[in-house]
Amino acid sequence: MINIAIDGPSGAGKSTIAKKIAEKLGITYLDTGAMYRTVALYAVSSGKNPSSQEEVVPLLENIKISYEKVGGENRIFLNGKDVSEDIRMHNISKCASEVSKIPEVRAFLVEKQREIAKNNDVVLDGRDITSHVLPDTKYKFYLTATAEERANRRFKELSDKGQNVSYETILADIKDRDYNDMNRKVSPLVKTPDSIEIDSTNMTLDEVADAIMEHIKAIKEQCNTLTVYKNASVQDLRKEAKEFNIDANKVIKKKTKKKGGFYRFIAAIVRKAMGIIWPTKIYFKDNFPKNTKAIVVCNHYTALDPCVIISKLLGKDGKVLMKDEIMKNHVVAKVATELGCIPVKRGEADLSAVKSILGALAKNQPVLIFPEGTRNKSGSKEMLPLKQGVATFALKAKAPIVPLLYYKKTGPFKRNILIVGAPFYLDEYYDQKPNAVKEEVTEVIRDKMCRLRAELDILVEKCGGSKKKYFKYVKEHGKEIYGNERNGCKE
Ligand code: C5P
Repeated sequence: MINIAIDGPSGAGKSTIAKKIAEKLGITYLDTGAMYRTVALYAVSSGKNPSSQEEVVPLLENIKISYEKVGGENRIFLNGKDVSEDIRMHNISKCASEVSKIPEVRAFLVEKQREIAKNNDVVLDGRDITSHVLPDTKYKFYLTATAEERANRRFKELSDKGQNVSYETILADIKDRDYNDMNRKVSPLVKTPDSIEIDSTNMTLDEVADAIMEHIKAIKEQCNTLTVYKNASVQDLRKEAKEFNIDANKVIKKKTKKKGGFYRFIAAIVRKAMGIIWPTKIYFKDNFPKNTKAIVVCNHYTALDPCVIISKLLGKDGKVLMKDEIMKNHVVAKVATELGCIPVKRGEADLSAVKSILGALAKNQPVLIFPEGTRNKSGSKEMLPLKQGVATFALKAKAPIVPLLYYKKTGPFKRNILIVGAPFYLDEYYDQKPNAVKEEVTEVIRDKMCRLRAELDILVEKCGGSKKKYFKYVKEHGKEIYGNERNGCKE
């Protein structure tokens, strides 16, 4: 995400410039001052005193601020009503400055601003963006001009709109607001040491916009790479690199090279160690589809069950769902991420996990899920009831299901047996609503998993009860496809 923060005193031209920059970059513009103005407008029209914390704070729960583009223009809505013009009234400017001193108002609005910045490329202008709302962004600007010049501009703006306010009043108000903004207790207006200051007193709007664009480009080049956006996707990086004329390959190579080097190394050791601590014989490995999306389901006995599957079957692109508690420890979290772990919050709809799972399937990556949702601590051969999430994912992504089965309770330093069943599709359900059929599909999946063990038991039985004999037979006959050569047993 690219977040450009522009702070500065009232009337320095922040909104006009921020709008221009956003347009040039094709990204969103967020006028945070308008948000404070909207709260002020609500307070005033509710007959409350905008300077009174006691009177304003209870109003916050009734305020819903939203944005909409109308005729290519960003409009701000207060509880569904377009208030873009009303908040520009001269008296509202003063009231906005008053409500902005109230900590609860700031917390209320800052949370919204951060949320927007987290999910969008955005230019934000205000008073506390560089210091408080987005202190980590690399793109920080402090736009200023003399109080007289700012009063001049505001005077023209208001006269053009037919608002009759004298220059002297405006100048006094501007100085008053400057004082308020710079001296309030919570998040006062400051120029942070890492902000680039631009004094626009003698500059035209275009000159200011050009100067900021130059700086943005320079910051990017200074960083030499776009890897400052650790979480950016390769596509986003390519797009940005093109926009700023930077060699995309250089950037992307650096990104991939840098990413988790140390932890990837640890993960590789974990993978290797698994083979020693958790020796597992995998049967019918050829059943596992290659280079395609798949939902891999497996019964679950012990915490280390996934490791063997990750290292021996899923490949480096594979993903595995794990409860998010394991992510609490920083090191474990990093290693788990390298191993392809998708953390999932249990007992609630975890949208981020859902997005990651469907995203991985869309990229043709296999995703391992333990559909029982928890470990079978009793170690019995009976499967626990399955959660319905697997069915929903399979239907949404139209992905084949690959059933795996740990033949018996797994454990360290013993020969664990993992059987790979034949993949199956759920074609007959694809044209139905997942919610309507997920229960039935869950049963189908459970049935396939149970049958894997049952069939194996029968076949082993055929081999005089000797699993060893049975697996040896399969091995000798080469083709390890379930339901094929495996159906017989040599006497
Ligand atoms: O930028 P604008 O003049 O529209 O902002 C109105 C008022 O909102 C400002 O005078 C300032 O007191 C307050 N404000 C703030 N923090 C921001 C943006 C605006 O305190 N990030």
